[in-house]
Amino acid sequence: MTRVGKKPPRHKFFLNPYQDARFTSCPKCDGKTKLRKFPLLIHVDPLQPVVVNKTCRYCPYCDLIIAHRDEIEQQLTYLFMQLQPDMIGNNYLIIGTLDKADWRRSMKKPLTFEEMRAYLHDFKKVMSFEPKRYMWVKDESE
Ligand SMILES: [Zn+2]
Repeated sequence: MTRVGKKPPRHKFFLNPYQDARFTSCPKCDGKTKLRKFPLLIHVDPLQPVVVNKTCRYCPYCDLIIAHRDEIEQQLTYLFMQLQPDMIGNNYLIIGTLDKADWRRSMKKPLTFEEMRAYLHDFKKVMSFEPKRYMWVKDESE
């Protein structure tokens, strides 16, 4: 992964695309996940960084943040309805987290691209998992 942020990378990240799987236990270690808020930095095409302070599932043991895609997209839609409605539905990429203090600063005044880079902690790793209960069973009727 190319690093964008100038602060050291932290956390692993998983964007959960499954609306019916909420990952109350960690897909990696099976431990219970906690609810925790993270200021997520999201790059929206073409060149609009936004910060969304989002309650995510978090496994402290694996240092894994799990964000639900439907909730993220709902929040982005809400944000861009006020900001710039023609950007709704654009591609986006969640690239990392900010420190709380930097996030508060970004609430007062939108970040420039350079500020965003200076504050950003990239993710250490972006992962993907499948919900455990999706087990493919062989169709015996054929
Ligand atoms: Zn875990």
